[in-house]
Amino acid sequence: MDFRQEIDVYLKKTGFGSFSPKAFLFDMDGVLYDSMPFHAKAWTEAFSHVGVLFDEYSVYKNEGRTGKTTVNEAFTAQLHREATDDEIQRIYADKAAIFMSISKTNPMPFAKEVLTALQAAGKKIVLVTGSGQKSLISKLNETYPTIFSPENMVTSFDVKYGKPNPEPYLMALQKAGVQPNEAIVIENAPLGVQAGVGAGIFTIALNTGILRDEDLANEGANVVLPSMKDLYNLLPTILEL
Ligand code: MG
Repeated sequence: MDFRQEIDVYLKKTGFGSFSPKAFLFDMDGVLYDSMPFHAKAWTEAFSHVGVLFDEYSVYKNEGRTGKTTVNEAFTAQLHREATDDEIQRIYADKAAIFMSISKTNPMPFAKEVLTALQAAGKKIVLVTGSGQKSLISKLNETYPTIFSPENMVTSFDVKYGKPNPEPYLMALQKAGVQPNEAIVIENAPLGVQAGVGAGIFTIALNTGILRDEDLANEGANVVLPSMKDLYNLLPTILEL
C-alpha cells in the first residue's frame, strides 16, 4: 500500500484540491477498545437461546446497527419474518446481560501511543461512537487521560440517525472546525466505513477483528490496515502531510 497514492485516489474521487489532516476521528469499539470479541460472543449466545443461528462473523458485519435492527436482520434472514417488540426486548436484554458478565475493558494495543503522538503533534482528536454507555467518558478518561472531553465526543446521544449515515462524522467535523479534506476517520466496521466515506473523509479501516479486508475495502475504505500498530507505524508519513 502506497499511502500517497491512496491520497491521490481520494482527491480524484472527492474532487478536493488538497488534503491536509488536522483532525483525527476515532470510532470506539474495535478501535480504541478491543471489545468486539465480547459483543460477538454475547450476540451469538443470545440468538442461540431463541434458536437463531447468528455467527460471530455476522456480528462483525453488522457492528454499529441498533439492537432492534440487528435482531430483525437475523429474523428476516432465517425465520423470514420480523421479530416482535417483545422478542427484540428479550433478546437484547439477554445479549446485554451476557456482555456484562463476560466483557473486560481491553484497550486496543497501540491506541494510546497513536493518540499521544497525534496530541503532541497538535492534531485535533474526536471520538465518534454509536455507543450510548453513560460510563463512557470516565472509562475513556481512565484509559486515555487528557485526550477526551465532552467537547470532542459524538455519541449516540448527539445523533438522530447514527452510522452508516454520515451524520455522526459530519458532526465531528463541525466539532473540530475542519473540512472533510482536513480529517481522517479511523474505523473497524463496514457500516462505520460507510459513514466516514459518506461524509467525504479519508477513511482508514483497521481490520482488528475477523472480517475479510474486502468487507472494509468494498465499503470504500481508502486504506485497510491489519492493526493499530500498523497505523502507529504509518504516523510519520501521515504527519508529514
Ligand atoms: Mg467499531
